[in-house]
Amino acid sequence: MTTSRFTAKEGRDYWLNIMISCAPEREDEIRGLWHKYSPAVEIENSNASRLTASPKGLRIDIKTPEVYWLIVFTGWKALEIYGPLVAYSSISGMPIAEVLARDSELQCMEHDYRACMRTAHEYKNSRDVNSIPWPPDIPKPSENRFMIDDAQYRFTFDLACSALGFTLFHEFYHIVLLSEGRCPNDIREEEMLCDVWARNFLTAKVSEYAAPRQLDFNQVLERRSMGAVLSALIIFEMTPSWAHGGTKEYFSVRDRITALFSNTSLPTGCHFWNFASAVLIGMCRSKSIQFAPPPMTAKALAEHLLQLI
Ligand SMILES: [Zn+2]
Repeated sequence: MTTSRFTAKEGRDYWLNIMISCAPEREDEIRGLWHKYSPAVEIENSNASRLTASPKGLRIDIKTPEVYWLIVFTGWKALEIYGPLVAYSSISGMPIAEVLARDSELQCMEHDYRACMRTAHEYKNSRDVNSIPWPPDIPKPSENRFMIDDAQYRFTFDLACSALGFTLFHEFYHIVLLSEGRCPNDIREEEMLCDVWARNFLTAKVSEYAAPRQLDFNQVLERRSMGAVLSALIIFEMTPSWAHGGTKEYFSVRDRITALFSNTSLPTGCHFWNFASAVLIGMCRSKSIQFAPPPMTAKALAEHLLQLI
């Protein structure tokens, strides 16, 4: 691990390029905003993996990319574990709780999911991560997606970048509000404004990305929205359990995650809803949140589970 650490970089361009990679159709706008507000980038090594904004710029804990990587790849495991079960439930009409109860391999796979998530937390809370073993079935972080042969690995790499990008856009908007003296009095309102701004920035001009590349609009929106689901998982995991119901600084995790999901135009039958339900089931089961809804579509299930978070 000592030679291949995927750590936060000092150079400002590194972070600018991550933001551009999340919404290439808005590169000129992103460069313009970056130039206008010109945030400094300060790398720190603390015992809490953070990415925060100050009037000067971004403060980024050195471990943040690795922690995001671990959470995103663990989130991908949720799709592998629960995705087929969500699909089976909606096709067969068997309630999801019953489908889960009947799966004899679930316990073993969930053990693995929790072990990987525990490693993410150990990374998050440590100043010296070199002694923490990397989970054997999660690929080591790569800094260059073009060096990755495996298509699924490359796809998950993109999702990790997009989850990191979402946080960068969120923090960047704090800087915009601070520099323009437009911060709401209620810090919770400001946090929500930053979440919504980041989400809208990443999805509002998807058609400008899709059309010239002859890509399907919904497919691009789906990919960006999957990044938002994994950003939601990161918020869920990075927020201590006692703060999930909300604090003086943040609305509840449920409200924040709902803001990331709501208003999407993705159709009911879209694979996105299977993905979202699978990740939400992972969140619920890792925190022993009980659910037993009647049979429903993957979209209805995702909306149901969101209310329980
Ligand atoms: Zn914030």
